[in-house]
Amino acid sequence: MNSRYSDNMSPESIPFNYPYIAGKELYHIARAVMEGQLAGGGPYSRRCEEWLEDHLGAHRVLLTHSCTAALEMAAMLCDIGPGDEIILPSFTFVSTANAFALRGAKLVFVDIRPDTLNIDENQIEEAITPKTKAIVPVHYAGVGCEMDSILDIANRHAIRVIEDAAQGVCSYYNNRSLGTLGTLGCWSFHETKNFISGEGGALVINSPEFFERAEIIREKGTDRSKFFRGETDKYTWIELGSSYVPSELTAAFLFAQLEMSEEINNRRHTVFNYYQKRLQPLEEEGLVRLPSTPQECQHNAHMFYLILPSASMRNELLNHLKSNGINAVFHYIPLHESPMGQKLGTDSSRLPVTEEMSRRLLRLPLFYGMKPEAQDRTIEAIQEFLRSD
Ligand SMILES: *Cc1c(COP(=O)(O)O)cnc(C)c1O
Repeated sequence: MNSRYSDNMSPESIPFNYPYIAGKELYHIARAVMEGQLAGGGPYSRRCEEWLEDHLGAHRVLLTHSCTAALEMAAMLCDIGPGDEIILPSFTFVSTANAFALRGAKLVFVDIRPDTLNIDENQIEEAITPKTKAIVPVHYAGVGCEMDSILDIANRHAIRVIEDAAQGVCSYYNNRSLGTLGTLGCWSFHETKNFISGEGGALVINSPEFFERAEIIREKGTDRSKFFRGETDKYTWIELGSSYVPSELTAAFLFAQLEMSEEINNRRHTVFNYYQKRLQPLEEEGLVRLPSTPQECQHNAHMFYLILPSASMRNELLNHLKSNGINAVFHYIPLHESPMGQKLGTDSSRLPVTEEMSRRLLRLPLFYGMKPEAQDRTIEAIQEFLRSD
């Protein structure tokens, strides 16, 4: 176990991320094999879905093979089509945009807040037109967007809210789980997230009207799920759909992680808080900015980032860390600046904060098994760089 980190990596090298193995993954996979169902929708999928419903207060959860799949399902459920407009940040992962672009919708990018790097709720309303069908808030770093304002705007204009809560499993906004606040929510269990199954995700259904259709879309547009519950005597093609169901092996792996959720949460918070405590003096000296969490948000320690005073300093610090064997990374390249974003001709004129922050942001290694010495080394390399002149 952990051979990629502890044996094969040079002892000098600190990875950006290393997947956490909770311990009972292989046990649950063996049980799934013995139970004799390997395709999706079996006992382990239901166990995971029920766990997520019970622990995170979700109305209904459907496991998917990725958060990308859940976003695509959400776009289909909301009947997004050509001519419709979708409001989203440009500072996000490509899947947030792809899901809607695939349906022919026009992407309308709104700038982010400088403090949380989440969509700026005060700029949403002016982006709304009669063609707007949905707002897609992305909870960056597992810190909630200003959901009260966003939901209020959506209600007043009768448009849907689809949360990209890929990074926000076990994060809360006013004590409600991210992903459970909008019409639909999307979670990720990709290996880079807090709770993992290699690839994996879930669609959170907060509005009962969507449940039956969601099951059909996930099962290639058929009522196969109903058939297996004995609610219909044959199954057939009902509407457009695709294959978004994860295998039982994936669900069995995920279940082992969910069982250990408290330990995972606690450990990640320990790593996060240690960065916070030791880097705070640098922030007080005005040398760097650390993540900020609004009072109504409780984050899940998904990510620890620095905002450097300039793009050139960010790049220099990245190189300094790399030369010390520390794998920090930057992201995102704003979608409106990407080749595809340019090809779609999306309006890029009013996103100064997105452009600024994406050039000044640096993410530090943060994972369950990160050793205290590795964290100290990372912190000391940052101190050395920032205090050098
Ligand atoms: C990781 C991530 C996704 C995609 O998740 P997958 O499970 O890999 O499809 C989507 N949006 C955001 C904001 C993410 O961080």
